[in-house]
Amino acid sequence: MDATRIPIGNDGFVEILETFGSDLTVVNAARVSFEKESNELVKQDIGLINYLAKHDHISPFFHPQIRLRLKMPIFIAREWFRHTIGFARNEISRRYVDSPPSIWTPDCFRERDVNLKQGSKPTEIQDSSVAVNAYNETVEACLKTYNKLLELNVAPEIARSILPQGMYTEFIETGSLAAYVRLCNLRTDSHAQREIQEYANAVCAVIEPHFPHSWKAMMNKKDAV
Ligand SMILES: Cc1cc2nc3c(=O)[nH]c(=O)nc-3n(C[C@H](O)[C@H](O)[C@H](O)COP(=O)(O)OP(=O)(O)OC[C@H]3O[C@@H](n4cnc5c(N)ncnc54)[C@H](O)[C@@H]3O)c2cc1C
Repeated sequence: MDATRIPIGNDGFVEILETFGSDLTVVNAARVSFEKESNELVKQDIGLINYLAKHDHISPFFHPQIRLRLKMPIFIAREWFRHTIGFARNEISRRYVDSPPSIWTPDCFRERDVNLKQGSKPTEIQDSSVAVNAYNETVEACLKTYNKLLELNVAPEIARSILPQGMYTEFIETGSLAAYVRLCNLRTDSHAQREIQEYANAVCAVIEPHFPHSWKAMMNKKDAV
């Protein structure tokens, strides 16, 4: 697997485009307080990173930046876009684009769990084939109507309203190291929907090698922004 691009679902992915900074960026943002600078990461610097994370001195973690390209279904993107602080995003616009939409396909129609306010059981419903057929038929009907509206010269910005929430969207996202830590802590948690967990886990996998000490020190700190 290409470490910079992780495929998810039938047409989604997380791809790391570029990064700014390193663990040393965090260290030197903190060391400026004492008019000091490190030229290479040494043991004391790793200790400083751990100290900063442990004591919630999180502003040094705002300096490194990560740029990603992500493709995910709209219902997951809606959750993803709730993470706002420390992020910039630009997304494909179906006002302008009318290329054939790509639609997410569930790999399993999970059962509702009556004991959970949010979530599902890991198990598949009994009538899975009925659900698959109903899902596919409706998706097909939506795509057919979308194409019909375009044929009738309806503007793409109006025609898109018939497309389902499972349609894939694509965006470029730039965020600080601290912002990604926060997002990943919340969305790799077992309370998050399984599909968004997959994206958050992929983001962890592509970011961690670039900032190994900071990432390890900061993960599981829910107050990072
Ligand atoms: C498992 C799970 C279930 C969820 N369920 C729902 C749901 O049912 N309905 C729903 O609407 N949302 C839901 N959410 C979304 C949730 O409420 C948050 O909007 C989302 O997690 C983003 O949180 P954030 O703290 O990263 O937000 P960001 O907007 O990125 O903010 C980051 C941090 O900045 C600070 N901040 C941001 N805005 C303010 C402000 N106005 N005032 C003071 N401080 C601020 C806070 O410290 C905040 O934590 C859910 C999230 C999760 C993880």
